[in-house]
Amino acid sequence: MDMVNLICSKRDGRELTAAEIDWVINAYVAGTVADEQVAALLMAVFWRGLSVAELSRWTAAIIASGERMDLSGLSRPTVDKHSTGGVGDKVSLILAPLVAACGAAVPQLSGRGLGHTGGTLDKLEAIPGWRSELSNSEMLAQLEEIGCVICAAGAGLAPADRKLYALRDVTGTVESIPLIAGSIMSKKIAEGTQSLVLDVKVGSGAFMADRDRATELARTMVRLGRDHGLKVTALLSTMDTPLGRAVGNALEVAEAVEVLSGRDDSPDLVELTLALAREMLELAGIQADPSVALRNGSALERYRAMVVAQGGDPDAPLPRAAHIELVTADQTGIVGRLDARAVGVAAWRLGAGRARKEDAVSASAGVVCRIKPGEKVTEGQALLELHTDQSERLDWAREALKDAIAIGDQPPAPTSVVLEVIS
Ligand code: URA
Repeated sequence: MDMVNLICSKRDGRELTAAEIDWVINAYVAGTVADEQVAALLMAVFWRGLSVAELSRWTAAIIASGERMDLSGLSRPTVDKHSTGGVGDKVSLILAPLVAACGAAVPQLSGRGLGHTGGTLDKLEAIPGWRSELSNSEMLAQLEEIGCVICAAGAGLAPADRKLYALRDVTGTVESIPLIAGSIMSKKIAEGTQSLVLDVKVGSGAFMADRDRATELARTMVRLGRDHGLKVTALLSTMDTPLGRAVGNALEVAEAVEVLSGRDDSPDLVELTLALAREMLELAGIQADPSVALRNGSALERYRAMVVAQGGDPDAPLPRAAHIELVTADQTGIVGRLDARAVGVAAWRLGAGRARKEDAVSASAGVVCRIKPGEKVTEGQALLELHTDQSERLDWAREALKDAIAIGDQPPAPTSVVLEVIS
């Protein structure tokens, strides 16, 4: 194969053949084609896109670069969820044990946060002793016994994606719908789940602020999954304001446990979690009402078992920040807007997130939203709590929140968290 010729083909809008795609992915993983050539190809894909056939083969080649897990020996149907990421999105911590309590096996391979959106592994690592690294056999045993596992993807899963993603990150080629779809779906297909529900977020705190592009991404991923034998449904959900009230690792774990304990002060979080659970159970062919498992303590019991199985102590106190300051209302009225991105950036500046992959995160840092859009406030009332271990970060976080909150005399138009179901 001639790599220059292949780049020029895509640059000029010609469809790549299956053999060309297989070759370039294999050669890149083997290190026999240079970063700059693959970067040029990725930029050509960014502008020209990939056809349905090309994307299907691209994804298959990424999957074939590593192992494909076999979960077929489990006695329960397998179903997973993937979220494109948002602010305060602790849904996985509630959803995996909830769906397990209803009879499915949830093999949730998760990631870490980068930028203003958090990562599920960072959140769970706030629990003393909890570990994210499991061997395949530990993962299978836990799925059979407890029904849910949330852990890091092993190095053997879709290694081509790891390399391609790192290159996309530094070449301005992350925001390409086929490349995002291929990246996400290759890992989910390789993980071996039979079915998958996607939570594609739309709004200021989401990867995609634009609804049309989010819809296109959702449709592309649903089709791609089906081409590879998975049952897939996507929900489009709003991410204009933080989900629930807590943003930050230990703070989000505490809120998830509150919801699992039936103390529900986060209706948007519960609404989205139950909507995702219902779709997951339908794909898994299980007839059960997840709201019952949330109320009767069975989901909480699975959560505790999952944490213990991964070395964590669910009763240990969670880390608390050394400094907690309040943001107060400068006028009386109704909260019309609480911007997700601004709150996410503030939590990140307080220490909850990382700027580079190798950075450590603070378990205790973050923001608690004491108010949500639509709630009445009086002048001087506390709106947000800022949590950090480093007081010098507080002013920086306040700066991110400068225009985050709008208070007026009209409530915002009522909206549902779930905007659309695509299946
Ligand atoms: N998440 C992924 O795993 N891949 C992408 O390309 C974007 C988000």
